[in-house]
Amino acid sequence: MSDPPRLIMFGPPGAGKGTQAAILSQWLGAPHISTGEVLRREISEATELGKQAESYVKDGALVPDNLLVSIVRERLVGSSAVGWILDGFPRTISQARFLSPVLSEIGQPLSLVICLDVPRPVVVDRLIERQAKEGREDDSEATILRRLDVYESQTLPVLKLYDDEGKLVRVDGNRPLEEVTVELKECLQIHLAL
Ligand code: AMP
Repeated sequence: MSDPPRLIMFGPPGAGKGTQAAILSQWLGAPHISTGEVLRREISEATELGKQAESYVKDGALVPDNLLVSIVRERLVGSSAVGWILDGFPRTISQARFLSPVLSEIGQPLSLVICLDVPRPVVVDRLIERQAKEGREDDSEATILRRLDVYESQTLPVLKLYDDEGKLVRVDGNRPLEEVTVELKECLQIHLAL
């Protein structure tokens, strides 16, 4: 392997980012850093951050940057040689602008941004199904629609930044999980010369 893989998994809620990032994390031996998971854990443990973030997560809104960025920074600074997979961050242009100098400072340039493309009606169905199975509080129908609106208005514009840097790869996420995994691995082998 050449350089350690440093990836951002991008895509709408319900695209399969978390699932695929966990699989790739095992495969690559690189930690999976999910800001949504971090927040859910903090909320369930009723930490100070959890208490401050809870209403935003429940409503399907974005948690304010000041609550999150230091956590992301800590995780990245703490993990070096093996690379990492960021899932759920950055979600706004301002978060992307925060991330970029942090990566320069720690000498860990981004390898690739992988966007899982899944059409809106498909992710709505998937999230409704996930609510039935896992009971995630932010998967209620009204919240699902709000999260998709937030994705389209605040998160999608981030893609252009990475596309302009030549870092963006798009993968069709509207297929069975295993097929998507196979394509992701192929894509990493090509782009990262694994
Ligand atoms: P996720 O598990 O990535 O779908 O995230 C669940 C929820 O956590 C989101 O709907 C937001 O409320 C919050 N969240 C996760 N990542 C971020 C982020 N980068 N910026 C702001 N809020 C976030």
